[in-house]
Amino acid sequence: MKKSIITIAAAVCMAAVLTACGGSQTKTKTETTAAATEKAGTEAASGETSAEGSEAATEAAGGKLVMVTNAEFPPYEFRENNDIVGIDADIARAIAEKLGMELEIQDMAFDSLIPAIQSGKADFAAAGMTVNEDRKKNVDFTDTYAEAAQVIIVKEDSDIASPDDLTGKKIGVQTGTTGDIYADDIENGDIQRFNKGMEAVMSLTQGKIDAVIIDREPAKVFVKENEGLKILDEAFTEEEYAIAIKKGNTELVDKFNTAIKELKESGEFQKIVDKYITAE
Ligand code: GLN
Repeated sequence: MKKSIITIAAAVCMAAVLTACGGSQTKTKTETTAAATEKAGTEAASGETSAEGSEAATEAAGGKLVMVTNAEFPPYEFRENNDIVGIDADIARAIAEKLGMELEIQDMAFDSLIPAIQSGKADFAAAGMTVNEDRKKNVDFTDTYAEAAQVIIVKEDSDIASPDDLTGKKIGVQTGTTGDIYADDIENGDIQRFNKGMEAVMSLTQGKIDAVIIDREPAKVFVKENEGLKILDEAFTEEEYAIAIKKGNTELVDKFNTAIKELKESGEFQKIVDKYITAE
């Protein structure tokens, strides 16, 4: 199986953005806001696209960054006791600290993340989010920070041995993810959508579906936690993760890229990855 290699693309901007930021301690507040999610969706539907005048953008200038994520995606984001932890959460904390800003993390459904950014409810999404052309129409992305893949989980005794064998099968995906989007191309595929990746995996263990298409690192965690499952060697797609920011907010994208670059150069980035992913 291909090793998971975490890389960061070179950040390009060395703007003097950091001078504008104080050195205050990063505080993290974690909230689950179903109502906020709903509101974000509604406002996004109204088509607001300007980067100015949004609540979150104003708050960011005043020292607070609002991050949205879907904390059902170990090892990138998950709940430990009441805290949201994981690679994305730790990287976001490190970025906020570098920028001298307070960080607030809100947990919501994966398909509510982009609407939350568009409506200005959130400054950014760090959610193991795959960069793709469609999403680029709605948000801007930072430099990529991780290589990823959609993989196929099946039962150990499954007759599905490669992506080609998915024709006509019942396939579980998480709503709105790239697994969901690309599964649409499977000939005669019966796509079953779940709110959480783990729910798709449970359905597979119960024999209700034939396979699950999901990101590689969470797949490894889910397979480890559930007996009788395996990940196929051949990935379904190869992709890359980046942080999503409101379209047009190049100032914040530049700040993030600079911070990511510094975290990589100092070795702090790799330390965060190593905390959550042990080398195979
Ligand atoms: N990488 C996938 C996507 O961007 C899934 C991310 C997730 O479920 N958090 O669609």
